[in-house]
Amino acid sequence: MGLTGIQIFKLLPKTNCKECGVPTCLAFAMNLAAGKAELASCPYVSEEAKALLSEAAAPPIRPVAIGSGENVVKIGGETVLFRHEKTFVNKPGFAILLSDTTAEAEVNARLKRFKELKYERVGLTLRPEMIAVKNDSGDAGTFEALIKKVKDETDAALILMSDKTDSLTVGVKACAERVPLVYAATNGNSEALANLAKENKCPLAVKADDLETLAGLSDKLTAAGQKDLVLDPGSRSLRRAFEDQIFIRRAALIRKNRSLGFPTITFPCEMTKDPMKEALIAATFVSKYAGIIVLSDFQGESLFPLLVERLNIYTDPQRPMMMQQGIYPIGSPSEDSPVLITTNFSLTYFIVSGEVESSRVPSWLLVMDTEGLSVLTAWAAGKFVGDAIGAFVKKSGITDKVKHRRVVIPGAVAAVSGDLEEELGPGWEVKIGPREAAHISAFLKMGT
Ligand code: SF4
Repeated sequence: MGLTGIQIFKLLPKTNCKECGVPTCLAFAMNLAAGKAELASCPYVSEEAKALLSEAAAPPIRPVAIGSGENVVKIGGETVLFRHEKTFVNKPGFAILLSDTTAEAEVNARLKRFKELKYERVGLTLRPEMIAVKNDSGDAGTFEALIKKVKDETDAALILMSDKTDSLTVGVKACAERVPLVYAATNGNSEALANLAKENKCPLAVKADDLETLAGLSDKLTAAGQKDLVLDPGSRSLRRAFEDQIFIRRAALIRKNRSLGFPTITFPCEMTKDPMKEALIAATFVSKYAGIIVLSDFQGESLFPLLVERLNIYTDPQRPMMMQQGIYPIGSPSEDSPVLITTNFSLTYFIVSGEVESSRVPSWLLVMDTEGLSVLTAWAAGKFVGDAIGAFVKKSGITDKVKHRRVVIPGAVAAVSGDLEEELGPGWEVKIGPREAAHISAFLKMGT
């Protein structure tokens, strides 16, 4: 259990010197207990108190990293129950399941889908990150061969699944540098797997059939020095798994239960045989509260919505989703192509760029940083007005790409055109686009 604010207060110097940025040691203690302050902000804590307080200062759900290189999957580290309170921090990893009894052609097809199913959205690449390799054959050599194949052909963060310690030992050896998740320590093998994970500096999954046993096992492994754990409460029906996810999250955040203060792994692939139901179950765990979601397969029609759901839930609700400021070519624009300008609210960008694309008129789209506000909101806030747009157009570099000096602004802010022309200076022409984004295509087809 973490310490309460009063327990922390008793360990502080109680001088109320304010150097930590709050008026009293009690206020600092309360902030520390709530995870809103860093212990390092108080320079006067004794070493003895530091050792005791470090536990209270640790995040209520331990962050765990799986994988290496650019594809490290970080899970856990969450501090809130609901996204509107603050923000969720580390999005769950999506894993595809590969069994070492699956036919080679099917393994190759799944690996191909793992590599190819990637999507560009709001300037980000959405993709699955993990592959769970399962030792259904029970044979260590077969398991090792599949792990090596997956390691060589992909950059996936790996989950090694076996109920045989010797298979896991061989498997971890084959890919230790990729920092795989070892699945799973149970009452029967926890000591051996804790040693294997510790020796190879790998995170370890813990599995039990009920939460009480799970908490006991996690305590045992933590005491043995294996700190990076991922919890599997063993539930394989949607209802129980859903309840378990919520119980674990609430226990860690509200009751400050350290035994359950770890990210979780879920298996929609073991909860139904219907691919669409599986996607719906996975969607449930994206929002509540899986660290890893293992799917039987990846198909674009179900994976893409899951990736977009994950993106939306794991963005900061206090910050609008936005595009980077810059020049976006649509089609293959030339030096005679029209230049349109809009704001960097991501939804605005998608609507405008979609309309430009459907017009089939190659164009340059200038996206201006308005702190993620849409056109009219940015205009009302004074961020999308004549002088600001003019300054942006001049420094954007568009004059190196086109020989004309003509820009199209959204019709909704036609009133800024005079100021904009003045800011751009002689030689520039400002055209008023349509009021509705839905009419951009027709507008472009008519010629600008
Ligand atoms: Fe108290 Fe330390 Fe903050 Fe000073 S810096 S008010 S001693 S907690």
